[in-house]
Amino acid sequence: MDADLALVGGGLANSLIAYHLVQTRADIDLLLLERDGHLGGEHTWSFNSPDLTPRQHDWINPLVQYRWPGYEVRFPEFTRWIEGGYQTITSTRLHDVVARSLGDRILFNSNVTSIDAGGIGLSDGRRVRAKAIVDGRGPSNSSQLVIRYQKFVGQVLRLEEPHGLRGPILMDATVEQLDGYRFVYVLPFEDDLALVEDTRYSDVPGIERDRYVAAIEDYVGTRGWKIKRVEYEEQGVLPVALSGDIGQFWEDGISGVARSGLRAALFHPTTGYSLPNAVRLAERIGRLLPLSASELYDLTRLESVTHWNETGFFRMLNRMLFLAGEPAQRFRVFQRFYRLPAPLIERFYAGRLKNLDRFRLLVGRPPVPVGRAAAAVMATGRREAVPGYTKGREDD
Ligand SMILES: Cc1cc2nc3c(=O)[nH]c(=O)nc-3n(C[C@H](O)[C@H](O)[C@H](O)COP(=O)(O)OP(=O)(O)OC[C@H]3O[C@@H](n4cnc5c(N)ncnc54)[C@H](O)[C@@H]3O)c2cc1C
Repeated sequence: MDADLALVGGGLANSLIAYHLVQTRADIDLLLLERDGHLGGEHTWSFNSPDLTPRQHDWINPLVQYRWPGYEVRFPEFTRWIEGGYQTITSTRLHDVVARSLGDRILFNSNVTSIDAGGIGLSDGRRVRAKAIVDGRGPSNSSQLVIRYQKFVGQVLRLEEPHGLRGPILMDATVEQLDGYRFVYVLPFEDDLALVEDTRYSDVPGIERDRYVAAIEDYVGTRGWKIKRVEYEEQGVLPVALSGDIGQFWEDGISGVARSGLRAALFHPTTGYSLPNAVRLAERIGRLLPLSASELYDLTRLESVTHWNETGFFRMLNRMLFLAGEPAQRFRVFQRFYRLPAPLIERFYAGRLKNLDRFRLLVGRPPVPVGRAAAAVMATGRREAVPGYTKGREDD
């Protein structure tokens, strides 16, 4: 089996690359290899509409299953509706649309066990030769990034009665604060169908699933909703970056092989979300192909390093969040953030902060002790003393 371009892993990033190339670069002979029998795993991927340009919306639109004109946040001191648009892609929709577009250019049930300059080895002994390869197999085990975690369990619930929500609740932080900053995330898909996710910004990655499920049931009960059945469940442990060495991160990978998605550290440092980065990378690859293996490696490495270098301010804020505040008081950082003007909040999530935005984010009385905030800015987040925590090098 041969291809000009082989995409290893049919998750979000490589599915978007493949889908974009099929639409814009029919001349490229590509192959997508996925370990499972479907694309995208079990996810709902959401994004703020302003994260993408109008042209990006145009080609992403067929993948979007749900749209709302804005969203709400709830904190102990206030509730706020923020206009601007919020959208969700489900893995089912991603699979349906991308698999239809690619046809026999996807190899399902293909567990890739080796990647080298000449091609790809599969666990069943097959080999794929490719001129260029993109490794998009999700997060790697590199210890070079110092991270904490946004972790959650979500259930899509069919309710007995309509929930009565006008749009998503991005953060309901009026709940009891547990295990760091805790909030409930609600996406109302239909009048009586909603994704309810119990989420925590935590120092440790483990999830005790049953406790999260009990917390979801508790939340649903306090809202006065009654569950008819659970239609679907997902869980995630997303990286929140404090510091790291992006150069060494790339040295840890397979030499000379291009990467996409989380494997390339292309995620928002504060939310762990990767969709806008994945859309941008797909477009960049589409514009520049055909590329040799080394040119493709250089392109994805440059995209990753540039993103890392441009997001140092977010990692500094993350250090203030995780290192300066008591875990139970972390909600105050978000409560203060959500009092800021809507355009600033929009630019924060899009990763396009202006200098004045940075000033506004820092000015005033911090919601954490001043001395500890200053120490956190200078710190790296490395925590040799904490058992089970991966040590990392820092350059921030
Ligand atoms: C439950 C959940 C919800 C999330 N929600 C959002 C969200 O709302 N918005 C957002 O922007 N981000 C979200 N994220 C974060 C991030 O965007 C996702 O993790 C995203 O899927 C990462 O994309 P990726 O392509 O790097 O990796 P993945 O989507 O994880 O894809 C990796 C793919 O590689 C395949 N694979 C792995 N090993 C092999 C192998 N050996 N051979 C062949 N194939 C292999 C896997 O089966 C998988 O399909 C969420 C993450 C999770 C876990």
